[in-house]
Amino acid sequence: MSKKILIIGSGIAGIAASLKLKSYGLESTIVDKGNFIGGRIGTREEKVGKNTYYFFHGAQFFTAKNNNFKKIINLGIKEHYIKKFGDFSPPRFRGFPTMRNFLTNISKDINIQQNFKITGLKKINKKISALDEKSKSWNVFDAVISTIPAPQNLELMNNFPVLKQSLKTASYDACMALMFYFDEHPLKIPDYFEFYNNPSILSWMAASNNKRYWTAHTKGSYSNLNLDTNKLLIKNEILSSIEEFLSVFMNRPNINFSSLHVWKYAKIKQIVVGKQIDPEFPIAIAGDFMEGPNVESAFISGEKAAELVFNRLG
Ligand SMILES: Cc1cc2nc3c(=O)[nH]c(=O)nc-3n(C[C@H](O)[C@H](O)[C@H](O)COP(=O)(O)OP(=O)(O)OC[C@H]3O[C@@H](n4cnc5c(N)ncnc54)[C@H](O)[C@@H]3O)c2cc1C
Repeated sequence: MSKKILIIGSGIAGIAASLKLKSYGLESTIVDKGNFIGGRIGTREEKVGKNTYYFFHGAQFFTAKNNNFKKIINLGIKEHYIKKFGDFSPPRFRGFPTMRNFLTNISKDINIQQNFKITGLKKINKKISALDEKSKSWNVFDAVISTIPAPQNLELMNNFPVLKQSLKTASYDACMALMFYFDEHPLKIPDYFEFYNNPSILSWMAASNNKRYWTAHTKGSYSNLNLDTNKLLIKNEILSSIEEFLSVFMNRPNINFSSLHVWKYAKIKQIVVGKQIDPEFPIAIAGDFMEGPNVESAFISGEKAAELVFNRLG
């Protein structure tokens, strides 16, 4: 008998869960409140005059040590929508030509609906009912996997105290992402800079797949403290840091456009200690908050949630 399974969130955890369920012969529907697939594997498209610029304002790269994830990455490399990034050990990868292309390609056979927000979940006999914000209607599912960041997930779990308890144990660092571009191709600079061992407010700065378009990220300590600070002030502080670093490579870096994105729940500081699936009902949680602060961990958690749900549906 076919089952009706809902996955909340079209980030990598939701997509991994849906692909895994498909491998068990189970179809699912992913819904996401955002305009685009991918969640924190973000690509920002900015139109300035006739030109369109792409910035990678979320994850900058991903690793692939897990065997199932490696298979997906290897296929992407073969089919040219994933490329190796830099010369790191273990190797790092990126979507090509944008980060988002990675997700659109791996989810071609999955049913995904964007601009679809779930605002409530409740128990109905042995099933789960989900409230769609737009139509204000409740729809019943045989199983649900919710992959939204832990603090937002908590708000949905009032009827599932065990999962609520799990979600309470996770915590995040925020991150400010400043997107900027150079007037001219900056020939003499590397593609990325890491600042972890530097007293700078920045943690990382990298070009997108075109070296003119960059994103700089602030450290968690700075971001957490400045969530309510005036955005213009933050933008100027980040720009001065960027200019200071680049002064080693060029006289006056010509940075012409910049936009700031604030990620309130950016990187996991503490993962969940607790259960991933409700002890009675076919509802599970997945996301980086279950496994670790990166794309690969979110993928692994999505697969685990799918396996738990599959076993529960028996
Ligand atoms: C600035 C930044 C830089 C990072 N850098 C790296 C990096 O370089 N390498 C790395 O490996 N990781 C990095 N990470 C971490 C990585 O991006 C995340 O760990 C991973 O993408 C999380 O995936 P996820 O599927 O768990 O969650 P998400 O990607 O957050 O997906 C959750 C989805 O749920 C949707 N949603 C939320 N509420 C609802 C609702 N009520 N109804 C429907 N949909 C909803 C959201 O729109 C979102 O699309 C970075 C993260 C940030 C923010």
